[in-house]
Amino acid sequence: MSHEIIAIDGPAGSGKSTVARAVADSLGWSFLDTGAMYRAVTCEAVFRGIDINDQNAVGDLARSATISTTPRVCVNGRDVEEEIRSEPINVAVSVVAANSQVRESMVARQREMANEQTRGTVVEGRDITTVVFPNATLKVYLTASLEERSRRRGEEGVESVARRDQADFTRETSPLRQADDALVLDTTGRSIEDVVGEIIQCLKNITSS
Ligand code: C5P
Repeated sequence: MSHEIIAIDGPAGSGKSTVARAVADSLGWSFLDTGAMYRAVTCEAVFRGIDINDQNAVGDLARSATISTTPRVCVNGRDVEEEIRSEPINVAVSVVAANSQVRESMVARQREMANEQTRGTVVEGRDITTVVFPNATLKVYLTASLEERSRRRGEEGVESVARRDQADFTRETSPLRQADDALVLDTTGRSIEDVVGEIIQCLKNITSS
């Protein structure tokens, strides 16, 4: 059991998944994409015809669903790896992620998943540095210009990315915010290797001091 955690938060398209995965690979640690979990719950609600605004029904679903994110994202045994990135899910996930019952269930699962690892875990999302692992070994907040983030998100488009950011920054439950002691990195115009290198150097500085 290891409690080494690198927690990474930031808005859509800031480079979290790519950077977190590369940091995990480079350290030989596991990687957890928590956005995929909120997206998986959203897919299942839509699949079952549940009104996403019905907080109790979606909360029940979140508590009872089996969710795995590797090697592919599955919910209740159904592979939703492609579906989670579709535009209807991009829109609906903001509503599901604002549901405090859903968040409670996902946060508990995320802590369990990381605690089960024998090596460290790199976890990325919106509330990882502030709520899920406020005592992480290293906390990172990634950001980038809206133009660059939308370009990275490809088909999703600038309006959808901006709308999702607005919902994530302003929701009542666990809004996206920068932790006071996070390493803040603006990834605009920077290569993945460069950002990954800075995070790993920072981890080395922390663990050797
Ligand atoms: O990271 P990704 O863009 O896939 O996340 C999809 C959505 O899931 C976000 O827009 C946000 O509403 C929600 N999310 C969250 N908390 C997390 C991870 C994602 O609320 N830890």
